[in-house]
Amino acid sequence: MKIVRAMELLTILNHCHRHRGFVYQHARFGPDQKSIEVEVRPREGSAAVCSECHQPAPGYDHLPERCFEFIPLWGFLVFLLYRMRRVDCRNCGVVVEEVPWGDGKHQLTRAYMLFLARWARKLSWKETAEAFHTSWDQVCDAVEYVVGWGLEHRTLEKIRAIGVDEIQYAKGHKYLTLVYQIDQGLTRLLWVGKERTIESFQGFFTVLGEPLAAQIEFVCSDMWQPYLDVIRQKCSQALHILDRFHIVAKMNQALDDVRAAESRKMAQDGHQPLLKKTRWCVLKRKENLTSQQKFRLRDLLRYNLQTVRAYLLKEDFQQFWEYNSPTWAGMFLDFWCQQTMRSRIAPMKKIARTLRAHRELLLNYFKARKQISSGVVEGLNNKAKVTMRKSYGFRTFRILELALYHSLGKLPEPELTHEFF
Ligand SMILES: [Zn+2]
Repeated sequence: MKIVRAMELLTILNHCHRHRGFVYQHARFGPDQKSIEVEVRPREGSAAVCSECHQPAPGYDHLPERCFEFIPLWGFLVFLLYRMRRVDCRNCGVVVEEVPWGDGKHQLTRAYMLFLARWARKLSWKETAEAFHTSWDQVCDAVEYVVGWGLEHRTLEKIRAIGVDEIQYAKGHKYLTLVYQIDQGLTRLLWVGKERTIESFQGFFTVLGEPLAAQIEFVCSDMWQPYLDVIRQKCSQALHILDRFHIVAKMNQALDDVRAAESRKMAQDGHQPLLKKTRWCVLKRKENLTSQQKFRLRDLLRYNLQTVRAYLLKEDFQQFWEYNSPTWAGMFLDFWCQQTMRSRIAPMKKIARTLRAHRELLLNYFKARKQISSGVVEGLNNKAKVTMRKSYGFRTFRILELALYHSLGKLPEPELTHEFF
């Protein structure tokens, strides 16, 4: 008989979700039989706490009963019912009391918000909502709470290396600016800025503050001019490195333009469609080609085409990254640019001009290579893209910002006395 009593719902709640100053009073099915309602009341003789200054204060009056949603149990929604008190605080006046399981702004209890937010990192927000019979908005609310708490409580101590990158989030050139910490021991998303302007990147430095910005030793970026400007202005002491991934991507883009234009021209002039189905043959790294693509490529290389010459220039450039000494790398770069400028292939010449213009920043790659690994930013950006795909229902900046901080920010979480997840 005793054992049965010991497993009452209130006993379980007292075990996993106990709060000093409050007691669970009564548990019953809701009117629809689909939910469980648990009444909560203040413990006898315990004073209410002011929600502004967090000090005990004399009671003033009661608000109507409110329900706070708790983690669902065996297919039943669970609600805690409580009449919040208002206090007459010496410092703050008449204010609603503070309750440890939630706050005035959220309908969900803290425990449930944390629970949903953790699931929302593993599942999409939509799947999370479905799994727990709640709505997408509630999941969003939960993530917003957890992220807000995390941003407020995260520590931004000495940051040695950062990477900045942009990511497109909607059609029509809508971009976000993402700033990552890329220290060897800690990689995380530090900042999400709207647009990819000078102002959006500067926002990061405003949050960081000057003393911390002055301690940054390495900055990794692409060749986007606003970023270059901000780095020069805010991090002049840091070694600025151009991200290898972006340069390779630019080069591939140029090659692809050459191939597409030449392919079109050959078709117009009534030539054999030599370039058909060669796109990936020339864009992919050699070691990643299928045997059929290898064969196709070998065949293609026999022809004196612009595409072939551009391809060979691109392949040749791979060597650049293999150097150890910046001096030798610099000589290689100059030679490569010279060759390319003579190639009479406009998109490739454009690349050469760009590389020449950023020569010094490019060579910084060799000064920093032992210190930071250049693949980190690319890896983080890929994760960001996956997050964008699965975590939101609407492509608004606010939702994306939340989703990105939530999955990549390594933010601290509010602590609970019991692990519900
Ligand atoms: Zn107060």
